[in-house]
Amino acid sequence: MVRMGDRIEVNGIRAVTIVGALPHEREIPQPLTIDVSFDVDLRDAGRSDELGDTVHYGLVADRVVAVVEESKDILLERLVARIADEVLAFDRVEAVDVTLTKVRPPIAVDAVNTAVKIRRTRAEADMPAQTVHRAYIALGSNLGDREAYLRLGVRGLGHVTKLSNVYETDPVGGPDDQGAYLNMVVEIETSLDPFALLRRCQRIEAEAMRQRVVHWGPRTLDVDIVLFDDLEMTSDELTIPHPRFAERRFVLAPLADIASDRCPADWESNLAPMGVRLHGPLSLDD
Ligand code: ADP
Ligand code: MG
Repeated sequence: MVRMGDRIEVNGIRAVTIVGALPHEREIPQPLTIDVSFDVDLRDAGRSDELGDTVHYGLVADRVVAVVEESKDILLERLVARIADEVLAFDRVEAVDVTLTKVRPPIAVDAVNTAVKIRRTRAEADMPAQTVHRAYIALGSNLGDREAYLRLGVRGLGHVTKLSNVYETDPVGGPDDQGAYLNMVVEIETSLDPFALLRRCQRIEAEAMRQRVVHWGPRTLDVDIVLFDDLEMTSDELTIPHPRFAERRFVLAPLADIASDRCPADWESNLAPMGVRLHGPLSLDD
């Protein structure tokens, strides 16, 4: 799971706080610098160019400064451990190296500084490993280069583990001049929570809209969460399973390709025909 070698570093964070065992150190705040370097799988962010797929180092730096400024620890060893815990609280961080430096150490010899350096991993910190969820996402496009929009969707979703066939579907309702849809379902593994995943789906839709060059139309790409683990939830923004998936052949036919056990029993015979035709696999080349 951990991508060996992927790291983010924030170096030379400056903060001032009470730390140390000597009487004057208990009275007068002193300057410290903090270097943090953490292991995080950067493959998703490398593909998606999305902040949601990485760890926001600005937030990490803010939390580090907050912990340091709130503390009145005696030992650097104690403070550095608390910084490490704080960084490990960020979901995607697998391990962290922290160096905490006293810029003006209270010692008689001539030394530039003193520092304590530790490495802590999620496993040692007794923190749960990142939870990986399995979700099924339905993609649909009926405008412009429909396959290109499906590809854009597939590429934006992160770690895709299964792809259904593409199905062509006659439009149901809507204006007469609507073209046929291409629909498919993909299985993904994600550490995002359902709401973060919804935001990702919406960003992909917005990106498809931005890339639309020729026509103006209602929808170049629709990206819906069909299933998310075994979760059942309802809120204003998000309902899982998708409220209409069980009545849509254009969702169930592709879902049956990759997860037939997740389709309602006998859906094929129970659902009215809908003009859903097999179109074939999605070509992932442009
Ligand atoms: P549809 O997908 O049914 O054609 P839209 O794409 O216009 O409709 O979705 C409208 C809203 O539905 C979204 O803004 C989103 O907040 C909400 N929604 C509720 N549940 C889901 C879900 N499971 N997946 C995607 N969107 C959902
Ligand atoms: Mg939608």
